[in-house]
Amino acid sequence: MSVTLPRVGFGYDSHTFGADRPLRLAGVVIPHDTGLTGHSDGDAVAHAVTDAILGAAALGDIGQLFPDTDPQWRGADSMAMLTTACARIVEAGFHVVNVDTTIVTQRPKLAPHVMAMRERLATALGVSPDGISVKGKTNEGMDAVGRGEGLQVFAVALLART
Ligand code: MG
Repeated sequence: MSVTLPRVGFGYDSHTFGADRPLRLAGVVIPHDTGLTGHSDGDAVAHAVTDAILGAAALGDIGQLFPDTDPQWRGADSMAMLTTACARIVEAGFHVVNVDTTIVTQRPKLAPHVMAMRERLATALGVSPDGISVKGKTNEGMDAVGRGEGLQVFAVALLART
């Protein structure tokens, strides 16, 4: 296998609503009546993108880097975790080319917050916002996500050798 070929990675995350804290996605606080549960700050976008970049570099996953059994990650800033994961892929000789994400949630509407999320992810990953895509969708009322019980995030990342 050529070491010069780009590498693709995939990340997925889901969290349930119901936490008494702000809804935070890609580091952006989004007005909503409930926040996401989770050991860290519940930022499922940061978690899915972290897994996508780690996956592209075959460097394991977010659970290995930041174990949820470790009290130091309780309530942790997930964007800081993403920045740390990005440093790991840079140490391994990669840089991020682009990232594409889809957030599936029935509520709230995400469109007004997409640019802010792209900018936060771009800063964490050391790329321009042109290299970051964030797309919001509903689940058309289907299943737990459609009932508003939680949200899901899918992410792909392309890395190149530095
Ligand atoms: Mg998570």
